[in-house]
Amino acid sequence: MTLLTFRFAPSPNGELHLGHAYSALLNQKLATQAGGRLLLRIEDIDTTRCTPQFEAGVLDDLKWLGFAWEEPVRRQSEHFAEYKAMLDRLIAEELVYPAFMSRGEIRAFITDSEKHGRDWPRDPDGVPLYPAADKALPVKERKRRIAENTPFAWRLDVSAAMARVGKALSWTEYSDETLLVARSIEARPQDWGDVIVARRDIPTSYHLAVVMDDALQGISHVVRGQDLFSATAVQRLLQELLGLPQPAYFHHRLILGPDGRKLSKSLGDTGLAALRHAGASPEDIRRMVGL
Ligand code: GLU
Repeated sequence: MTLLTFRFAPSPNGELHLGHAYSALLNQKLATQAGGRLLLRIEDIDTTRCTPQFEAGVLDDLKWLGFAWEEPVRRQSEHFAEYKAMLDRLIAEELVYPAFMSRGEIRAFITDSEKHGRDWPRDPDGVPLYPAADKALPVKERKRRIAENTPFAWRLDVSAAMARVGKALSWTEYSDETLLVARSIEARPQDWGDVIVARRDIPTSYHLAVVMDDALQGISHVVRGQDLFSATAVQRLLQELLGLPQPAYFHHRLILGPDGRKLSKSLGDTGLAALRHAGASPEDIRRMVGL
C-alpha cells in the first residue's frame, strides 16, 4: 500500500496568520491519522515579494506551532530549470502563447468593448478574462516583439488545451475532513480564460509549479483553503496536458477575520508572530481555529 502524502505549501511573501495555522495543523492531523507523510513546500517563485526573512519567519512559526515536516523542504525557487522544461513542452506543443498586453491595455480593451454594450466575462475571482487578441499574432510578429524585449507572459491557450485533452475533466473532492466521502467535481478551466503559465523572467506560475510539485513529491491529498477550490480546474487541465497524476482534494473552510473577511498577510493582530508575542500558546492557536 502506498503511503498517503499531505503537504502544506505557504508562500513566504508575508507572515503566517490563523488561516495558515489551520491549514498546516489540519494537514498534520490528517497525515497523522492516516499514518502518512507530511511535507513542507515553500512556494517562493515570486522573487519580488518572497524574502528569506519571511521564509525564516514561516519556519519559526511552524516549529513553534508544533508542525513537524519531513526534510528536505522543497523550495520552488531552486527548481526553475525543471519548470522551464515543462514550459518548453507546452511551447513546443503550441498550447501556450506569448501575451503582450499590459494591464493598462487590457483595461482599455475591456472598457472599449463594454462601451459597445457587451459585459466582459470575469473569472471566478471576479477578474476580467484576458482578451485573447494577441493569440492570433503571426509568428513573425511574436518573434519581433520578443527580440525587442517587449514584456510578455506565457498564457495557456485554454481552448486549444481543452481540445487537446478531448474529454470532460473532473476532480475528486472530499466532503469533509474525515476524508471518508468524496464526490466528483466538474472542472471548468475555461472559466479562467487564458491563464498565465509563466512569466518572461520566471519560467513558471503558481499553477504550473503546483501541479509539477504535487506530482514530484507524490502528494496523494491536497488539503488547502476553499479560496483555491475553483482554481483546481486549471490545475487538472495542466495535469492532463503534462501527463501528471491527479491527487484527491479537500478544500477546507477559511478562518475569517472579525469583520467576516478572509484574512490577509497584512492583518497584524491575526498574525501568528503577533499572537505569540502577545502571550498566546500553540494550544490557544488550536482552539482559536477549532482544532
Ligand atoms: N502557496 C499557496 C498559498 O500560500 C497555496 C498553494 C496550494 O496549497 O496549492 O496560498
